[in-house]
Amino acid sequence: MTQQHKMYYKKRGEILVKNLVSRHFEAYYCDTKTEALEKALELIPKGASIGWGGAMSAHQIGLVEALNAGNYHAIDRDKCTTQEEKLQAAKDSMFADVFLTGANALSLDGEMVNIDGTGNRVAAIVYGPKQVLVIAGMNKVVDTLEDAVTRARTVAAPMNQQRFQLPVPCTTTATCADCKSESCICNQILITRHCRPVGRIKFILVGEDLGL
Ligand code: SF4
Repeated sequence: MTQQHKMYYKKRGEILVKNLVSRHFEAYYCDTKTEALEKALELIPKGASIGWGGAMSAHQIGLVEALNAGNYHAIDRDKCTTQEEKLQAAKDSMFADVFLTGANALSLDGEMVNIDGTGNRVAAIVYGPKQVLVIAGMNKVVDTLEDAVTRARTVAAPMNQQRFQLPVPCTTTATCADCKSESCICNQILITRHCRPVGRIKFILVGEDLGL
């Protein structure tokens, strides 16, 4: 990444932190993945129960690995061997001390957009876990809420389908066809515009490209 790119991300990150705080979120800007990992471990209490969903960025900064190795009760669906265990882990995450996730898009004035297929991720963002920690690369930040919805629907979702390879149009075309397929992953679209209780949702913005 060029120095100009880093400066661009930092300046926009500082604006976004201010705007998120004005909406009663807690927010931090970190220049690098390493700094972001340190900040996340500072925010998560030792011994806490932690679940996650749609948290590719948390994986990329090394947080999931650190939680699995540390003194935490990590609810890791990837370690489940049956569908029943996976379902139970998703339910347990709803009552966790901390829920880790990412953002499909963020507007510069501090609103987050997330799309979900099953709904467990957006449900946990809305209500349940005591705290929600969002790790987001600055590549997710766009100017307006309208741009954020567009990014979530036309970039993040078709990109995610390149991983999932479900039988929907965007798997083949990488372009959203606003489908009504049974395998559609765009079943809920959540806009998080404010935080109550104050500080329940915390953001760590990272001055690097993370996630999809
Ligand atoms: S609505 Fe359907 S076609 Fe559009 S991104 Fe979602 S899954 Fe793909």
